[in-house]
Amino acid sequence: MARIQLRDVSVSFTDPARVPVSRMFQVRRERNLEDMPVEAANRVQALDRVNLTIPNGQTFTVVGPSGCGKSTLLRVVAGIENKYRGQVLYDDVDMQDLPPGDRYIGMVFQNYALYPNFNNAGNLSFFFKNHKISDEQTRERIQYTSDLMGIEFNELLPRRPGTLSGGEKQRVAIARAIVRVPKLFLFDEPLSNLDAKLRVQTRVEIKKLLHKFSITGLYVTHDQQEAIALGDQIVVMHAGRIEQVGTYQQLMENPVNVFVAGFLGLPPMNLLSGGSISGDKLVLGDELIPISKRVQPLVQNGQRITLGFRLEAVQASVEKSSGNGIQLQGEVEALEPDYTQRTQVIYIRNGIWNYAGVCSLDVKLNLGQIVNVKIDSERLYFFDTDSGIRL
Ligand code: ADP
Repeated sequence: MARIQLRDVSVSFTDPARVPVSRMFQVRRERNLEDMPVEAANRVQALDRVNLTIPNGQTFTVVGPSGCGKSTLLRVVAGIENKYRGQVLYDDVDMQDLPPGDRYIGMVFQNYALYPNFNNAGNLSFFFKNHKISDEQTRERIQYTSDLMGIEFNELLPRRPGTLSGGEKQRVAIARAIVRVPKLFLFDEPLSNLDAKLRVQTRVEIKKLLHKFSITGLYVTHDQQEAIALGDQIVVMHAGRIEQVGTYQQLMENPVNVFVAGFLGLPPMNLLSGGSISGDKLVLGDELIPISKRVQPLVQNGQRITLGFRLEAVQASVEKSSGNGIQLQGEVEALEPDYTQRTQVIYIRNGIWNYAGVCSLDVKLNLGQIVNVKIDSERLYFFDTDSGIRL
């Protein structure tokens, strides 16, 4: 077990796609892209001064759009990517010179990364052979892990990875991560290649293991359900930077900026840009929206504001709604039923407003129908449009 810290970690790569063709010939001649002097314009900043602390025994999940640096972050922690600036510490010890094989990490990848020429027991014992651990100890450890993974897991051990299904391969890969008693679990999109049912089963299996061992974990995924289910805290990344770290509830209730608000949530927050401040109101299209007392001192006349509200703040009904709130009329553009929750997501449009709400499945709605909408004015979020920062 270990506390993991990243201090001001930056990684940049030469992006071959941005190197002009004439330079590519030169690159081929010199054969080593890394040693080439390259202009800043040809570099991708995969991580940009990243600071993160994962307390001992907690699992952090990392989400963000494709290319934002999630895998690079994981690879830096693992030591697979060692060309970085800044520091990576395990329990306050700088890991710069320690190769991945000596860090006691259990890694699980999307593509399983099993050795095809060994049977599965061989895949599990590889680490012990490498570290010259006795056969008896190795057998005990494999048996213990196999028992943990469930009765039928034993039957997979004599087979080779090539004869297993995707789900079985991933179970072997998870067992291989556990068998070595790691200080740290690292997962890089481990469930992406599995079908929906297996994804849920394996997710539950991983959750049980994380709980059982209380091993520090870092889990990269593009799937928010996974991030919510497995993470004690969620790290939201964007363009090589960490935008925010927190529990799902913290991130949903208090997003620090428009990126986090517009990224997290299924679906994410409604965001309406194009508004500006006039006195104590926000002018957005034809609507005048009252600004909360807390936000009023933080804004100036003419300031450009993006308005945010979650689906749950929107009430749609056929009858005219009463009480406080922004009252609108809108056309139903699309409906998405959720039979497990007995709710439906309604996509509504009126003029420049385009947003989603949620209501019970019992409310019978049709496409094209005009509905009355009330948006709870206590649940509005205001973002400075230029900086994206939440006010
Ligand atoms: P993610 O996992 O969030 O999709 P990555 O960490 O894989 O993102 O990549 C971050 C950025 O760094 C991307 O722009 C990607 O193209 C670039 N990148 C990653 N690895 C390399 C590499 N070995 N060489 C060049 N560019 C890379």
